[in-house]
Amino acid sequence: METHLAERFLNTPDGEVAERILRACVHCGFCTATCPTYQILGDEQDSPRGRIYLMKQVLEGATPTLSTLRHLDRCLTCRNCESTCPSGVHYSRLLDIGRRVVASEVRRPRGEAIGRSVLHRLISHKPLFDSLMKIGRVARPLLPAALQAKIPHVHVPIGKWPTQTHARKILMLNNCVQEGMLPAVDKATARVLDRLGIQAIIERKSGCCGSLPYHMDDEEGGLADVRRNIDAWWPHIEQGLEAIVINISGCSAMVKDYGYLMRLDPAYAEKAARISAMTFDLSEWLARELGSRRPKTALPAQRLVFHPPCTLQHAQKIRGVVEAMLTTWGAELQPIQESHLCCGSAGAYSVLQPELSQKLRSRKLSNLERHQPEVILSANVGCIGHLGGGTQTPVMHWIEWMEQRLLAGGVTDERIEMPEMAPDTHEEGASVRNTLKATAITRPGREAAAEKKAEAA
Ligand code: SF4
Ligand code: SF4
Repeated sequence: METHLAERFLNTPDGEVAERILRACVHCGFCTATCPTYQILGDEQDSPRGRIYLMKQVLEGATPTLSTLRHLDRCLTCRNCESTCPSGVHYSRLLDIGRRVVASEVRRPRGEAIGRSVLHRLISHKPLFDSLMKIGRVARPLLPAALQAKIPHVHVPIGKWPTQTHARKILMLNNCVQEGMLPAVDKATARVLDRLGIQAIIERKSGCCGSLPYHMDDEEGGLADVRRNIDAWWPHIEQGLEAIVINISGCSAMVKDYGYLMRLDPAYAEKAARISAMTFDLSEWLARELGSRRPKTALPAQRLVFHPPCTLQHAQKIRGVVEAMLTTWGAELQPIQESHLCCGSAGAYSVLQPELSQKLRSRKLSNLERHQPEVILSANVGCIGHLGGGTQTPVMHWIEWMEQRLLAGGVTDERIEMPEMAPDTHEEGASVRNTLKATAITRPGREAAAEKKAEAA
């Protein structure tokens, strides 16, 4: 699209990124077909193409209004439009810039601004959030139904963190909400890795990956989280840490973006790029570690569905990896329609946009439950909590299910070579996101792809 940025954005980092993205969009509208908000609301301004046009107007000098802000607020940042777009438009980068500009110029109604601030503080105060979840679990029968739905059930034994040390070490995230909402997931992850001879460490000086504040108009707060994590993780990296392995797909997507987010900060750019390159979603890491290894003893099949979070399938382009592992370990995966569509969780979206969020959840659950699965699995704490609040079917993290299978079935030593990965197709950004070609990866393959991308940049 022909674009003429306003003077104040010309030759600025945001202006350069935005202009490149705006020029890549040919306004064809293919993306509207897979946009959840457009499908529900049918309003062009609640479609990716419409939002791109709104942001273009603002960046060209138009004054944004509360209506502009509302259309951007309603976007789930699911990035389904990026998967659909034939021109490779990096919509989410433009949205980050557009939201920042619009939020700095349009005043939110006072009550709404206070509500967002309280929510942000609650979510980012880990001890308080964890305590509220514990109290909520005990007092669940006394709570109103709406609050009960916000407290996920724990479906497997929580157990203990493994105590054995190993030469191979990886870092996990000191996440903000998962430990409170799904207390078994981190421990199950650490135990599975322990069985494979890998020690998982959590650095308590680190914290939230920064995604929540960053996507709630608080860019500085988000970047402060990024810097704090880099500072906390760096000593481990200097001591030979193998990787950062994250079991929340929203957070692995964010940490893989640290290199891009810190690219203009000379004190952090290099370290951030290194951290992005050594970060894996748990699915990528475990697929490589397990390879073709199978259970030693035959396990009874279980009828399951897997909901791939948008941050896994659209942001990280990891598709089919978890599903392949689950099938190997005895899952009878049921077909699901509209697996590309968001479930409506999207960070704090389920609280900030409850009506749209619940419509998307109902639609997702009717697709997931069509074949009466025994369990619904997913890969992101937000999706698991959100879906679990709308169904009686147990909703769990896939690693919780995998751990039960590993315990029941043992694991063979058989290994095979894994196919290589293809590099990310987006042009802008120095983040080292990679696309999986198949169901598993090799580290040399990933490093080669990252080096190729760095050379091309
Ligand atoms: S974002 Fe892509 S699919 Fe959507 S209108 Fe622009 S070019 Fe077309
Ligand atoms: S990120 Fe999702 S909700 Fe937002 S415009 Fe793209 S497809 Fe629509």
